Amino acid sequence: MKKEAPTTTMVVKDICCDICNESVIPSARMQHSDDLNSFSEHAQLIASFGYGSKRDGDKFHYDLCEDCFDQLLVSIEGLRMGKT
Ligand SMILES: [Zn+2]
Repeated sequence: MKKEAPTTTMVVKDICCDICNESVIPSARMQHSDDLNSFSEHAQLIASFGYGSKRDGDKFHYDLCEDCFDQLLVSIEGLRMGKT
């Protein structure tokens, strides 16, 4: 005999931009995914610092929408131009 019990599992329903809070998931993908936990086809800014770094142990993970990623690219290019 199988004994059944209800379970509650948490699933990722959306991933939002850490700057503007808009969803980073294209609407077509949103409708066809029950769990977006493994979704990684969007901009992410990830940094992890280790021994010898001034930030030893610091970890950063930001999810970004395409618009905010574009603005970040402009900022990076601006910084690069300022260094040369
Ligand atoms: Zn955004």
